[in-house]
Amino acid sequence: MDTYEQAQADKQMLERYVTSPGIDMDARYSVAGHGGIAFYLDGYAKEWTEESWTYDSEGDPDDELSYLYNEPEEVENTTMVRAIMVGDDHVWIVDIDDLTVIDEDSYCPSCGQIGCGWH
Ligand SMILES: [Zn+2]
Repeated sequence: MDTYEQAQADKQMLERYVTSPGIDMDARYSVAGHGGIAFYLDGYAKEWTEESWTYDSEGDPDDELSYLYNEPEEVENTTMVRAIMVGDDHVWIVDIDDLTVIDEDSYCPSCGQIGCGWH
């Protein structure tokens, strides 16, 4: 393994570590405040950073050319997820602390209700 491959392997290991803080995106969840309905997840919430200017710490602080522009960028917020009610298509942005894993067979796959008498 050469240096480049080693760097790629390290990067992959880091990414795996960073992107797996314990939320199972394939599981079904109930959400605090929305009791009785099963949700599935559509990944982490995304948000945009605000544009900003960083002083380059060399030039005249009063000269705008001494500042570096930071573009807004889309980042994942791993404390929040996109949750969608089973049987609905509205996306809720939910705090991961409000999620509770439910059994695959404890909710109704057609209406999303937990404990629906239909199934
Ligand atoms: Zn049902």
